[in-house]
Amino acid sequence: MGRQRKETAGYQALHLRVGADRGAPQHCDECGTSDPDKFYDWANISGRYEDVNDYRRLCRACHMTSDGRLERLRVLGKRLRPIVPPKPCIDCRELWKPLRHGRCGRCSQRWAKAQKVS
Ligand SMILES: [Zn+2]
Ligand SMILES: [Zn+2]
Repeated sequence: MGRQRKETAGYQALHLRVGADRGAPQHCDECGTSDPDKFYDWANISGRYEDVNDYRRLCRACHMTSDGRLERLRVLGKRLRPIVPPKPCIDCRELWKPLRHGRCGRCSQRWAKAQKVS
């Protein structure tokens, strides 16, 4: 998809702009290290990629960790989307969602009436 590739390129360009605007990061805002042997990145905070102030300095290790966490959240979020298949009503076997007392809408109404009468 051409659109996808364009957005990725824009994302990288914006990252470069942060470096140009705010300089190369020299320490980590997460773990506080300023070890000169480590690599530091600008990491976006809240998804406003075009805002150079929406980035924080992260060492490579913390960047990986936070990216991994985001990725897990994203995957989890997808999985958590309700996939509830309709189930057969215990009376008429018609697929229904959600079931009430194991019955479809019609049968549950009939069942509730029958409960009242008896
Ligand atoms: Zn760090
Ligand atoms: Zn039914």
